[in-house]
Amino acid sequence: MFELTSEQKDIKKAAREFAEGELKEIARELDEKQHFDEKLWEKAAELGFLAVFIDEEYGGAGLGYLEHSLICEELARIDCGIAHSITSTFFGTQLIKLIGSEEQKQKYLPMVCGGKAKMGVAITEPDAGSDVSSIKTMAKKDGEDYIISGNKTFITNANRADFLIVLCITNPEAKKKYDRFSTIIVETNRPGYEASKLMNKLSIRCSDTGEVTFNDVRVPKENLLGKEGKGFYNIMEFLNRSRLEAAGFGVGTAQGALEKAIDHVRKRKQFGAPLADSPVVQTKIAEMATLVEAARCFLYSTSARVDRGEMDHEIIAMTKWYAAEVAVKVSDEALQLHGGYGILEEYDVAHYWRDAKVIEIFEGTKEVEKLIIGKRLLGR
Ligand SMILES: Cc1cc2nc3c(=O)[nH]c(=O)nc-3n(C[C@H](O)[C@H](O)[C@H](O)COP(=O)(O)OP(=O)(O)OC[C@H]3O[C@@H](n4cnc5c(N)ncnc54)[C@H](O)[C@@H]3O)c2cc1C
Repeated sequence: MFELTSEQKDIKKAAREFAEGELKEIARELDEKQHFDEKLWEKAAELGFLAVFIDEEYGGAGLGYLEHSLICEELARIDCGIAHSITSTFFGTQLIKLIGSEEQKQKYLPMVCGGKAKMGVAITEPDAGSDVSSIKTMAKKDGEDYIISGNKTFITNANRADFLIVLCITNPEAKKKYDRFSTIIVETNRPGYEASKLMNKLSIRCSDTGEVTFNDVRVPKENLLGKEGKGFYNIMEFLNRSRLEAAGFGVGTAQGALEKAIDHVRKRKQFGAPLADSPVVQTKIAEMATLVEAARCFLYSTSARVDRGEMDHEIIAMTKWYAAEVAVKVSDEALQLHGGYGILEEYDVAHYWRDAKVIEIFEGTKEVEKLIIGKRLLGR
């Protein structure tokens, strides 16, 4: 039986109060306008919800990934787009914490943890999604600098971030394909950085997703994050931690949808009685609640394992895949239980259904996650 500590329960409660008090009211408007209100990010920073897993000496709360998962869950319970807009501002701090130099930690982490700067991670390219090792963005050495050229797509915060961690090719001559890459920090105000916004997404519509072009962007060599040639491995380690965040979104989205369904079937009467009186409906609600609880237990126990330093890639992949699948299933059933009203945005259940889908895609698709699990179990 997994039991949260009283401090963890307090964090979860505080995140719920913030989400109920500040996000609920504005969520539908931001979704419709495909626009995020930065005041919510500032408020989240004031309340200490940003990058809580970063050590206190670098501006974090010195807590763990479990506490971060609790915050992700509670924000996504109200709205996954807002949750993503807030937590993506420190998307990549996981990697700086893991492999950044002392100078890099001091330079970047306090401003991101304190809500003074936003960041992101740029891996995906038009021809390289699941197949990360097919990226083409080049970082050529030129004296004491790198000159970066290439295109990235589906980049969260392409238009908001102050800097991005960019996966580039630095060692094209390396024998092993996976040894050709490096992770480099690129400030977005450098000449040659261009970004545009991808509009009309199905999911997390207020979150900024964009395309980025690097037109010979010059960055100093000290922006190299980790060692040259280790970029691919760095990104895999990053995903092992950021997938917990996505799993947190999955659990929160599923919980939010479940609550909407419970509320609706209690109120809606058909055949002379509330839908909640129907054994079919009761069974559906029971199944939905059981799935959410199972995904939540999985999320908490895996987050706690990561905090103990037990990095088990297949367990992390299972956790993210399962939480996303539960979000998709539960939000689909929640919408179904609303009947025709479910497809009306004003009933506030359709967005869970729309948002759940992306959790099966970003941070690694469910197919890729199952491949990680299957290959490991079968020794391939
Ligand atoms: C809202 C949003 C935000 C994002 N934010 C970021 C970000 O901040 N930074 C970033 O770098 N990326 C980001 N991404 C990109 C995301 O990580 C990719 O979309 C994802 O990795 C899948 O890549 P793809 O879209 O190119 O799909 P593809 O790789 O083209 O996959 C298409 C389909 O084929 C399947 N498939 C692929 N290969 C195999 C295989 N070998 N076996 C079986 N099935 C396979 C996939 O599972 C999928 O179902 C974001 C995406 C979205 C939608």
